[in-house]
Amino acid sequence: MPSDSDASQATAEPEGDLATATQSAPSKQTIGIDPDGDLLLWVGSDLCTVCTPTNMRVCSATMRRASPVWRSMLFGPWSESKPAQGDWVVSLPDDNPQPLQTLLSIVHGNFVDVPRKVEIPQLYDIVVVADKYALLRALQPWAPLWLESVRDLAPNLGGRERLMRAHAAWELGSDDLLSASIRDLVWNVNLASGVDGGFWYLSREPNALLSFDPEEQSGPPDLLGVVTELRLPMIQDMLDFFNRELDSRSDEDNPACRADGWCDTIILGIIWQYFRCQKEDLLPMNAGEYPKAATCLLEHLSNLFTRRMRSIPRLDWGKHDRCPPAPRDKWIKFEVAIKDHERLKSVLLPHHKERLAAQRATIGL
Ligand SMILES: [Zn+2]
Repeated sequence: MPSDSDASQATAEPEGDLATATQSAPSKQTIGIDPDGDLLLWVGSDLCTVCTPTNMRVCSATMRRASPVWRSMLFGPWSESKPAQGDWVVSLPDDNPQPLQTLLSIVHGNFVDVPRKVEIPQLYDIVVVADKYALLRALQPWAPLWLESVRDLAPNLGGRERLMRAHAAWELGSDDLLSASIRDLVWNVNLASGVDGGFWYLSREPNALLSFDPEEQSGPPDLLGVVTELRLPMIQDMLDFFNRELDSRSDEDNPACRADGWCDTIILGIIWQYFRCQKEDLLPMNAGEYPKAATCLLEHLSNLFTRRMRSIPRLDWGKHDRCPPAPRDKWIKFEVAIKDHERLKSVLLPHHKERLAAQRATIGL
């Protein structure tokens, strides 16, 4: 996608005519989506901290044909309709220039300016603007390529990008990607309702508790509930495993080690030492009290029951049959089972599938 500076069709807009159209006419470079177009769009605002305001010259008839929203805006009884004299200029201060430029390139047939691969925030922005102007159907040739390009996630991706991906999948009607996004959120993000109507998420990064703006769209309206309902049982299963192990080593009347040895004490000591080294409290009993992403708990328990337990001297079997390395073997089986748990195989509800199918029908996928 060309930037302001390298767009081959960028031209310096004459300032005289613009200045008569409005007192605040900016003298900036104009991208010629249609260099001979009859309409000039001022997109973005100097107040926007994440975008650069941009002028775009376009064809009003092309916009009218592409979008019923644009048809109404440009050819209805509004202030955006063509003036009797002077340049036709429409200001779109609330729109982000980059995604709008992509959409305008598509509807004007400038396909060479349309990216074939996108990053998650880029796709999210395109989908939000396309939805705003009822242009999702114009994305039909690109939607499969774009969905594919956000399928693989960077390991330390923030919670916000993960939510953005869920929204893109939701709007573009992808069952597969929405399912993958929900599973990803279940493991990698802690979501909680916020007082502002949005929700908080805690990603894997330390202290990364951030609010997701309620104004921002984030996939299915019940996403928070769906993720929470799946996440809590996963965490509870892991906590139960941990606490069962702790309890079985803490019963003086019925010790797990049947050889009257120090195995239980040693194992409890290793568990305590592990969490002290991590500068963390011991784990809670209830999943609702676990504040981090589920994958953090999985990593802790995996480290504890595999690497740390491996440091325990191997004892002769016999009456030590419930002592190390038995916890390690139990954990390895448990870890395989929980990663592939039945409840995470089909995460979409009937109304999700219905809406996703409707989106595919709208877009023509
Ligand atoms: Zn023992």
